[in-house]
Amino acid sequence: MKSKVILTVAPTGAWPTKEDTPYIPLQPEEIANEVYECYKAGASIAHIHVRDDQGNASMDFTKFKETVELIRSKCDIVLNLTTSGGLGLEDEVRMKPYIELKPEFASFDCGSMNWSHTTTFINSPTFLEKSGKEMKKNNVKPEIEIFDVGMLDNAKYYINKGILDEPAHFQFVLGAPGGMAATVENLVFLKNQLPPNSTWSAFGIGKMHLPILYATLALGGNLRVGMEDNIFYSKGVFAKSNVDFVERAKRIVHEFGKSIATPDETRKILGLKNSYINK
Ligand code: ZN
Repeated sequence: MKSKVILTVAPTGAWPTKEDTPYIPLQPEEIANEVYECYKAGASIAHIHVRDDQGNASMDFTKFKETVELIRSKCDIVLNLTTSGGLGLEDEVRMKPYIELKPEFASFDCGSMNWSHTTTFINSPTFLEKSGKEMKKNNVKPEIEIFDVGMLDNAKYYINKGILDEPAHFQFVLGAPGGMAATVENLVFLKNQLPPNSTWSAFGIGKMHLPILYATLALGGNLRVGMEDNIFYSKGVFAKSNVDFVERAKRIVHEFGKSIATPDETRKILGLKNSYINK
């Protein structure tokens, strides 16, 4: 399993619109078809956001349900549902999709921050304790998203408190305005402070996507690609599909002498408990 790299695809996110790129999948059928194509190309995990009918950021449960059911009818890719499909939402609205739909994974944003120099992204201590306990109760593994170094210390606090279990899985989100910059130095710094036995993944936003991807691979981490983080395949050129990113990551991983973990290998490596049987 040491030669396996887990590849997450994040096809939609909360922010890019059809005006930003016509290729972004926003509605359940579009998202499910895109995820299925990414699965066929070799992606291990799909990190899912949904949008409302107008394409705005949303935590609409019916959209999640429709999207998850469509994906599960097509393939057994590991599912990771966001809890942050918009700002200023009620705790219960953020937790409902993972409580009801029981994905293997859900995001756990381990602290609050200024967001894009315009507003705030709040993950209060009350919410984090509540969501950590709910995830445990529902066998949903938290993907602990780290936007800045203090969030990693928060995670250690919740591990000590028994709210988060070990081995924990971390996702370093580098280059979000208001968070830690996407530099290789920052990635090395974060990686060196992980609790022992942790698994981890990282990505850089926008043009820092590729430098962070290569550095993550060199440091033994797992990868995430997709239009949530970056809509350009190369300078000024839109990715025509999230599959483009998956195929590129797969080539890079192969050239590096490793291979992408299948969904079942991913379940084994990360000790995932919920596993929808697609039969
Ligand atoms: Zn997300």
